[in-house]
Amino acid sequence: MNNLVARAKELLNSNSVQVVIGYETGPTGVARPAFITNSEKADRLIYDERCVQNLAVYLTKHEVRKLGKAAIVATLPVMRSIMMLISEQQIIGENLVVLGISSEGNLLDIADIRVMQGIIEKSDLSNPPEYRELLAALNKMSPEEKFAYWQKELSKCIKCYACRQACPMCYCTRCTVEVNQPQWIPVQANTHGNMEWHILRAMHLAGRCISCGECGRSCPVGIPCHLLTMHLTDKVFNYFKVYAGTSDKMSSVMSTYEPNDKESFII
Ligand code: SF4
Ligand code: SF4
Ligand code: SF4
Repeated sequence: MNNLVARAKELLNSNSVQVVIGYETGPTGVARPAFITNSEKADRLIYDERCVQNLAVYLTKHEVRKLGKAAIVATLPVMRSIMMLISEQQIIGENLVVLGISSEGNLLDIADIRVMQGIIEKSDLSNPPEYRELLAALNKMSPEEKFAYWQKELSKCIKCYACRQACPMCYCTRCTVEVNQPQWIPVQANTHGNMEWHILRAMHLAGRCISCGECGRSCPVGIPCHLLTMHLTDKVFNYFKVYAGTSDKMSSVMSTYEPNDKESFII
């Protein structure tokens, strides 16, 4: 993608940014994240169908922040993650250059956050089509069938926390699972404790998940943990008519209350 490389070079040469976060081809041919700090290395940047990782996860990492002002290659999930991170005051929009990528794979001209917001507002923000069938199948299950499904899936969890590490919204410096006074979540991987971990994570992501699917993609044992948070995305939309990552001034669904909120979930 020549115009992406040219834009990255321009930004680095003018010192408008000190790092460009994008994708490059790794040694096995898989696309991997690239942190380009020198315009001479910008030719390594790629963008094609292999580039699926949600790069926004790096924006809150200390190691990346210390490189200086960043430009980031941003597909729709990355743009929505950026909106969430701004609204949760984890990053400052003015300190970031967004190299937007359209659904057709073209470089978008994003001058500021308002332009990005306009692009997001015009996009389909519901859960991605490839997950809808499975989500619908899960919705049709009885509570017992659903419990059995998740018990089977989550019994495989080895508590490596790759799902948490891959998620841009899991930026806590000390995750609840690492708190041991009190020990909220058992350290060992067993079905009961695994379920506690995943229910906790899903609740922390309710109304914040931007449906990128990265948590599920990163799981080494193939647990579709993204379906838990995507299910809550559907629920939040049904109750409150909001999708995460649509504004830099979003209130958290789980910590705000309005007198006219539906209360049908209270039984
Ligand atoms: S799909 Fe998973 S990784 Fe992506 S925002 Fe939601 S919880 Fe985080
Ligand atoms: S699971 Fe909860 S506590 Fe842990 S990093 Fe994610 S949001 Fe933070
Ligand atoms: S990535 Fe998979 S195995 Fe690791 S903690 Fe998450 S669900 Fe469990």
